[in-house]
Amino acid sequence: MKLVIAQMKHETNTFSPVPTPLTRFGHGGTHPPQGAAAISAYRGTGSAIGAFIDLAEQAGAEFTVPIAAAAWPSGPVDDAAFEAICAAIVDAVAQGCDAVLLDLHGAMVTQTFDDGEGELLRRIRAVAPHVPIGVALDMHTNLYDAMGQNATVMAGYQTYPHVDMYETGLRAGRAVLALLAGKSAPTMAWGRQPMLPHVMRQSSEDSPNRELQARCREMEAQGALSASVFVGFPNADIEYAGLSAVVVTDNDPALARQYCDELLVMAWTQRAAFVYQIDPLHSSMARAKALADAKPVDSGPVVLLDHSDNCASGGTMDTMTVLAAMLEAGLEDVAAFAVFDPQAVQEMVSAGVGADVSLALGGKLDMPAIGLEGKPLEVTGRVRRISDGNYVNYGPMARGEMNAMGPSVVLELAGRFEVVVISNHVEPHDLAAFVAVGIAPERKKFLMLKSRVHWRAGLKSLAHAVVECAGTGVCTSDYVALGLSKVRRPIYPLEVM
Ligand SMILES: [Zn+2]
Repeated sequence: MKLVIAQMKHETNTFSPVPTPLTRFGHGGTHPPQGAAAISAYRGTGSAIGAFIDLAEQAGAEFTVPIAAAAWPSGPVDDAAFEAICAAIVDAVAQGCDAVLLDLHGAMVTQTFDDGEGELLRRIRAVAPHVPIGVALDMHTNLYDAMGQNATVMAGYQTYPHVDMYETGLRAGRAVLALLAGKSAPTMAWGRQPMLPHVMRQSSEDSPNRELQARCREMEAQGALSASVFVGFPNADIEYAGLSAVVVTDNDPALARQYCDELLVMAWTQRAAFVYQIDPLHSSMARAKALADAKPVDSGPVVLLDHSDNCASGGTMDTMTVLAAMLEAGLEDVAAFAVFDPQAVQEMVSAGVGADVSLALGGKLDMPAIGLEGKPLEVTGRVRRISDGNYVNYGPMARGEMNAMGPSVVLELAGRFEVVVISNHVEPHDLAAFVAVGIAPERKKFLMLKSRVHWRAGLKSLAHAVVECAGTGVCTSDYVALGLSKVRRPIYPLEVM
């Protein structure tokens, strides 16, 4: 048995000004790993591709990994990057194999294609019309028909924060291996609803997604090979952004259809509960202060979420609105993670640890797609620490995967206000990111995070309370400000339905 295993992961925020060249798909701004380097980067990790590698080795299969390409979310993928990744995968398949296992995101938009994954799958089908293709997908998939028409099995994450990537890989991979062994005949049904759930209301720890995902697991316990509800990624102005579902059964297309429709009806019925109400920033600041004043000593920080500027949704990670409001409100004993500003990092590295610096922090990137200019914040402070920015996730999300923030600096402003400044995008969802820069977040009174939901994976247990802070940026939950124009209409909640 010969398998081709590959990864192509990118969630595209079509409003993001952050470019997406091929080097964004490798570790710390390098070419994505291929062959033995790809296997060693992901073997033993909590990723879907890690699960595929384990399954192949346990089955004694021969396998190749032509490329493992994963990039932090950003703007549309460069055509050259997409072509290079596709060519590596399609060429490997064309050399002959019994099955293909793919770790994809499901919401990739390229300069040319609104449905990057569908295009990849179409090209694979063109060279291998009958080879089974198993696909693991992110819960933020925006599902196009080309994905369903060309994949044999699709399985999506059932948790947000995504702490079941590995299990999702097992579901997709096992279904394909059973097919190869003649033990099952997967049949698949999929569909969409005209609704755009807000990311801030999508967590699987909260209703209604908690119940939707529970029903998926129940269907699997009742015999479905895989059941998935994709909440979708709304910061993408493409026709089929939004919620969808896929169910795979063993040789029972009617049951797959019935289960899929049940999930879609269940989601539609709960559509109003997926709508996020945005609090004004000044009231968030007041609430954070009141929570901190009332909390017992050593009870963990009050977390302030700068949710409009999250790099794990394509944010520039350099808008300063929330940070400026925190300084103005006089918050003290703060850690803020993080501001993306490689230029400021270089200035501070040159100045050295202990140096006092005055600089224009953040705000280097304009956001023309939403009509905003980058606005730096003039600050004066002291360089407290410098780190190489490398760490390995503790988990539970993406356990064991390497991260490279690049040269990183802790800048201390007045009032024990520590700001982490980084050179490559990473989202704070893992305690290891803080350990890498010498910060103990559990000891702070306030913890500012540029995150929406994933921070909960590794940091929620430390928090005393959480306050959502609406700053500025391309991850805004304000669909009117985004000016969605290509998404199919009518769609809820842009139209009341
Ligand atoms: Zn996701």
